[in-house]
Amino acid sequence: MKPGTVGIIGGGAAGMAAAIAAGRQGDRVILLEALDRTGKKLSATGNGRCNLMNRHPEAYYGDPDFAAAVLGPDPLGESLAFWRSLGLPVRFDSDGRGYPCTFLAGTVLDVLRAEMRRLDTEIRTGASVTDVEPDGSAFILRLADGTSLRADRVILATGGGAQAKLGGNFSAWPWLERLGHRMAAARPALVPLKTDKKAISGLSGLRVKCRVSLESPEGEVLHREQGEMLFTDTGISGICVMQCARFLPESGGAVLFADFVRDLFPDRQALKRTLLERAALFPKDMAQSLLRGLCADKLAYAVCKQAGLALRGETIGQLSEKQIGNVADALAHYRIPILGTEGMERAQVMAGGADCGLFRPENMESRIWPGLHAAGEILNVDGDCGGYNLMFAFLSGIRAGENGRREKHND
Ligand SMILES: Cc1cc2nc3c(=O)[nH]c(=O)nc-3n(C[C@H](O)[C@H](O)[C@H](O)COP(=O)(O)OP(=O)(O)OC[C@H]3O[C@@H](n4cnc5c(N)ncnc54)[C@H](O)[C@@H]3O)c2cc1C
Repeated sequence: MKPGTVGIIGGGAAGMAAAIAAGRQGDRVILLEALDRTGKKLSATGNGRCNLMNRHPEAYYGDPDFAAAVLGPDPLGESLAFWRSLGLPVRFDSDGRGYPCTFLAGTVLDVLRAEMRRLDTEIRTGASVTDVEPDGSAFILRLADGTSLRADRVILATGGGAQAKLGGNFSAWPWLERLGHRMAAARPALVPLKTDKKAISGLSGLRVKCRVSLESPEGEVLHREQGEMLFTDTGISGICVMQCARFLPESGGAVLFADFVRDLFPDRQALKRTLLERAALFPKDMAQSLLRGLCADKLAYAVCKQAGLALRGETIGQLSEKQIGNVADALAHYRIPILGTEGMERAQVMAGGADCGLFRPENMESRIWPGLHAAGEILNVDGDCGGYNLMFAFLSGIRAGENGRREKHND
């Protein structure tokens, strides 16, 4: 494949990786970014620390087979080699998450921008593309300012719909559909959940380690996670909660059950016995003191309420064995009815997007239109929290930019 002019739409993770990979192969690259600067979403990732990758096996949804084919046999090694070629050492935390050695997203942007400068990438910010039209074997890209440009190849790296203020949008959807591509319905993934008010009453601001199980209205377990849950004014958040979002049934009615003492009491009977022993030790204390030392006061109050205790001044000694059993059940199986998600504006990632079956994983090229490529979140691939989404965005961007030509800078 001879070098040519490559128009890249979207200056996010995938677009910048594609620009570098294509530039290294000698292509003339024009990178078009609608916002006033490149990498705006990237700079917000990982709470400003930019979780670039993960050591552990990939966790992808949508089209996981396509994701695996794109990532290849050694995604971690290839990712590290890419960042090394830019002069960026990666540090891993104890959970296997990889970050820039500075733990600053700004450092990632610095090395990407420096390499694009070295390669003479033409970067146009404030350049919103409004349409893409095939023109013989090339493409015409139309911009919002009325200008247009011609490119031999086009890489759609417009991202997903999550968080419009960081560039999330669906601008490429009508172009792709017009060109014969199919789009899987979009919905927010990795997003906080809205819940029934009663289940979270008085708990806002509390963080608690737990194991969660998302269940359908019929009681079928849809997904299990563990980690830290954060109670908010409108519901629940935290990684373990956000990772449940993509499993919510469209018909609604899901319930999330939280076990707040799983690590201490894997066996419910042992928990009940412990609470009965406490009851014998502290009969004169207020009923909610039964959970003193096991969880925060406000959670103890909420758990006792869910267990059906009146909490109108009764003492532990006044509780029946059955009531104590109910408290154990509520602590290990706290019921939180889910009303929905906090929506695309609070989501970190979008599920859905361009049907991967119509793209070639080796170079991200359309099977319908030679020369048209897509990379990153525009595709129907989304990953767990932990660096998987950026890893896919960067590696798919590299595949699209290289277009089957070897990456000379990888070692
Ligand atoms: C708050 C937050 C934290 C996150 N943290 C992490 C994390 O730590 N680790 C991780 O792996 N993932 C994280 N993610 C997810 C990750 O950021 C995305 O999956 C990733 O950025 C997708 O890369 P992309 O290049 O496909 O899209 P984007 O990075 O969204 O880039 C797309 C770009 O295209 C531009 N664009 C769109 N349409 C047009 C148009 N018509 N013309 C010109 N330009 C256009 C947009 O302005 C945007 O800049 C996080 C996301 C958010 C929102």
